[in-house]
Amino acid sequence: MEHDLNLKPLALEGIEDKRPLVIAGPCSAETEEQVMSTAQQLANNGIKIFRAGVWKPRTKPGGFEGKGLEALPWMQRVKAETGMLLATEVATPEHVEAALKAGVDILWVGARTTANPFSVQAIADALKGIDVPVLVKNPVNPDIELWTGALMRINGAGITRLGAIHRGFSSVDQKLYRNAPMWHIAIELKRRFPSLPIITDPSHMGGRRDMVAPISQQAMDLGFDGLMIESHCNPDCAWSDANQQVLPEVLDFILDRLVVRDYIETTESLNQLRKQIDELDNNLMDLLTKRMRVSREIAEYKRQHNMTVVQTTRYSEILDKRAVQGQLCGMSPDFVKTVYEAIHSESVRQQVEIMKI
Ligand code: PEP
Ligand code: MN
Repeated sequence: MEHDLNLKPLALEGIEDKRPLVIAGPCSAETEEQVMSTAQQLANNGIKIFRAGVWKPRTKPGGFEGKGLEALPWMQRVKAETGMLLATEVATPEHVEAALKAGVDILWVGARTTANPFSVQAIADALKGIDVPVLVKNPVNPDIELWTGALMRINGAGITRLGAIHRGFSSVDQKLYRNAPMWHIAIELKRRFPSLPIITDPSHMGGRRDMVAPISQQAMDLGFDGLMIESHCNPDCAWSDANQQVLPEVLDFILDRLVVRDYIETTESLNQLRKQIDELDNNLMDLLTKRMRVSREIAEYKRQHNMTVVQTTRYSEILDKRAVQGQLCGMSPDFVKTVYEAIHSESVRQQVEIMKI
């Protein structure tokens, strides 16, 4: 399907057009003191765009759902006293109206909202006739069409100053990342819409303070346009996402050490390709781990039912099927056979271990 977006530069007032565009601030606006103290420290370190969640989408009821309208005057105070631009998440037409009335400069659509076309359309309808920059986070699930669809809905309402925020995707296994980056999805979005700015959110990807720096660097290495980073004046005591928020001075340290590579339009650099390979290899390792886990479950079943580990008909079936699949995907059948022999032999080794128990 062909998509098109009518895009104009974000053209944010007082913000230099250079990579990375940095948006920083706490996950949530908690108290006036917390908002002001964080904002002052960030502004002193040269941050120009302040983020804070006023309305918080929480997975379960009973959590801190944001201060709502009460927090908007605190945001206004940030703007008045520091000159920073304001950004917040909107999830309903009422949020849009209240945020704009309070002078919020940039709106963003959260990951849970992007996954719901009804909600996105309601926000788009509320934005008709208004010229405000809107950033659309990726949906929680790894579906580029849903992400694109949300961008199209907002763009369809006449919003041309549009950007995307890549915050990673939920998955069953949360080993390394809180939300797996799956960089190839953001890269594909960039390929489809080369002039759409893509801002990486390393805080929600990593879910941990120590991952903010490496993920931010990876985003710069891949050529993305900006960073949205959660920063809090007292991260350990944050009311939401405490594990991933960094002190303003830590953010300053991270940004200072960031190597911002030149974005080369015409050719994809070797470095970018290698990063993609690394990411794909991580996925391969993950899949192999899961496959071995299932193998061990099979071994457990065989042990309980007194069955042999190797059943040659099943083994030949796997080798034949995969060789045909491989050929269809442009790989040599011999290569696929070699890979599967290796996987099978490791699987047998692990099953034999289980049988010994
Ligand atoms: C947030 O930015 O604090 C937030 C709720 O993010 P997401 O929508 O990516 O989960
Ligand atoms: Mn958060």
